[in-house]
Amino acid sequence: MPIYVEKKPDVLIGEDGTRTDGRSPLDLRPIKIEVGILERADGSALVEWGGNRVLAAVFGPREVHPKHMLLPDRALLRLRYNMAPFSTPERKRPGPDRRSVELSKVIRTALLPAVFIEKYPGSAIDVFVEILRSDAGTRVAGVTAASLALADAGIAMRGLVAGCSVGRVDDFIVVDPNHDEDMWGDVDMPMAVLFEDRKITLLQADGPLTVEQFNECLRLGMACCEMVYELQKEALRRPYVMVERRALGVA
Ligand code: ADP
Repeated sequence: MPIYVEKKPDVLIGEDGTRTDGRSPLDLRPIKIEVGILERADGSALVEWGGNRVLAAVFGPREVHPKHMLLPDRALLRLRYNMAPFSTPERKRPGPDRRSVELSKVIRTALLPAVFIEKYPGSAIDVFVEILRSDAGTRVAGVTAASLALADAGIAMRGLVAGCSVGRVDDFIVVDPNHDEDMWGDVDMPMAVLFEDRKITLLQADGPLTVEQFNECLRLGMACCEMVYELQKEALRRPYVMVERRALGVA
């Protein structure tokens, strides 16, 4: 049986800024969003983002089990991020691991400021983020999908939370890093923003940035999240919404 070995591409980004998938630094990958696709969930959304396929399902508000977790003054918002064993090129060991525990917490924290948990005292709101196929950026696609699934479930929210990553590859700041760039690039900076307030609810970075580079990442990340937010709003109005690869409309 051939063993899958990932290889670093010879060139991650060309001198003219061409990326391994042919995109320019400010191009996002194609995104397709469908809302309300699971009959048995109270709310659901499927986000196809580049090679990512991320399904979010919401159950609740519902009774809390086990009972000792009940919070008398607000809802218990629980979130589970799970990668299917078939979601990666090489079969992933099923079940939770350190990364999925961390990402469950990160996504929950990004969503929490958006949810009026105080409106549902003593109940549970359970959010499941299932990664069916992964291609870098699953946490931001997960935040995007989960926020839509909450809205689809009719949970009272301050606004939608939209996510997107930005990053640095050599001296280029790129939006929506692909798998090669996430794995071998210099910095991946996932972000999520609560709209309309434009409050940042998720910001991580896994490498060094100068202050100028950080400010540029922040500016472009904000613009990306805004673009994703526009798609989210459209998706809630229609059965589904889709964009081809699209350049970020900023100078
Ligand atoms: P994110 O998906 O939010 O970018 P990471 O930076 O941790 O999160 O992961 C980047 C990508 O690496 C994932 O989207 C996935 O394609 C891949 N990956 C992560 N964990 C595993 C794993 N256990 N096995 C194989 N591929 C993985």
